[in-house]
Amino acid sequence: MLEKSQVDMEKIVSLSQRRGFIFQSSEIYGGLASCWDYGPLGVELKNNIKKAWWRSIVQERDDIVGIDSSILMHPKTWEASGHIQGFTDPLAECKECHLRWRIDELKSANCPNCNGELTEPQRFNLMFKTFIGPVEDKASITYLRPETAQGIFVNFHNILNTTRKRLPFGIAQIGKAFRNEITTGNFIFRSREFEQMELEYFVKPDSDEHWLNYWLEERLRWYINLGIKQGNLRLRQHGQDELAHYARNCYDIDYLFPMGWSEIEGIANRGDFDLRQHSEYSGKNLDYFDGDTNGHYFPIIIEPSAGVDRSLLAFLIDAYDEEPDKDELRVLLHLHPDLAPYKAAILPLSRRPPLVALAKDVYDSVRRHLMVSYDNSQSIGRRYRRQDEIGTPFCVTVDFESLNDNQVTIRDRDTMNQIRVPIEELTQVLIAKLAGENFVTQPLWKTE
Ligand code: ATP
Repeated sequence: MLEKSQVDMEKIVSLSQRRGFIFQSSEIYGGLASCWDYGPLGVELKNNIKKAWWRSIVQERDDIVGIDSSILMHPKTWEASGHIQGFTDPLAECKECHLRWRIDELKSANCPNCNGELTEPQRFNLMFKTFIGPVEDKASITYLRPETAQGIFVNFHNILNTTRKRLPFGIAQIGKAFRNEITTGNFIFRSREFEQMELEYFVKPDSDEHWLNYWLEERLRWYINLGIKQGNLRLRQHGQDELAHYARNCYDIDYLFPMGWSEIEGIANRGDFDLRQHSEYSGKNLDYFDGDTNGHYFPIIIEPSAGVDRSLLAFLIDAYDEEPDKDELRVLLHLHPDLAPYKAAILPLSRRPPLVALAKDVYDSVRRHLMVSYDNSQSIGRRYRRQDEIGTPFCVTVDFESLNDNQVTIRDRDTMNQIRVPIEELTQVLIAKLAGENFVTQPLWKTE
């Protein structure tokens, strides 16, 4: 097992490009800085992360509903939210090389690139401006959303009226967000276009600290249940000087990346700022009528806000491993089965027609239930290694014996243990093993 400190970002970048997880955006034109494209395996992994989040936040609960709001919003949204005024980084420009630097990240008074003298800092808004309609005048300016949360706040009454939810309840959303980030780098950690998984959880005043603690635990557990090692996660409370002006309290869930501890999710107590602001700016009262007390008030909002791309990077790094394998190196991803792009690979031992025909039948029957791949090129050893490297939990080998006994061999990615099962039970056995049944436990039919 590799020590954490031995996993550097280059290995992850190289694997991602080699195997089609992640490519540089617009690569043939020299790339577009801090924008990334997810390849065939990357999109599966990403979808699986989003599915796991949606299942745990929306589908397995009665108190949270989903939404998918528009990326473009009325420009007044961003006045009310404070983004036009406050969503800025102070930047200084180097008088020599003209690179711009975030003042809060500078470690010296001079340019880190050429040591040149820096200008006085200026505020730089992180939102991407765009124009609605054909005329680029001021009236048609709006912004690409820098977070998905505002689409939830402005729909608060729509959801309340259509679902009849009572406090405490939440609204969840997964979607793209855009920020014109100044300091980028570290692969997909900080990009200009990324996806967020945001939950806005509305609670009664005075219960906010309880719910903040509840969500800190829930969210930490989510990462751990999906395979991230507990020791590589920590909670970090924001100091008073770091808190957004409206926030009452805030924690980051940090992951131990190769470049050090860095945020993968923020969990904030936003007070009643958001609904109050949108009420004021829209002229529509977004308060809540509490039938228990017969009173009106603005609920307090607890917001767990996670990044899809950042957590994907953490899942990849945490899963990455290298083992000596004869004269070579076995690279493998110990991805949780729920996240692995393929759940199994169907591999005929040779390309002889009867074996290929049987393997294709097996493939067709399993793929109706699970995302599986089929591979009949090169030696079986190489094919195992290719699957290990992309995190496929199980390889199913169809061999000559299979033609006689109608059984196939399943090989476990992590232990390389093998079991043999009848073809007609294969899907069922795979589903049980993927759900966590001990790999060497024989299926029921064997012990009967
Ligand atoms: P940072 O301080 O690293 O810029 P932030 O505190 O501004 O992050 P939030 O506004 O709390 O981030 O956003 C919530 C989550 O969205 C973050 O925890 C992260 O996972 C994700 N996120 C934010 N900005 C980016 C980005 N530029 N690229 C990728 N993911 C991002």
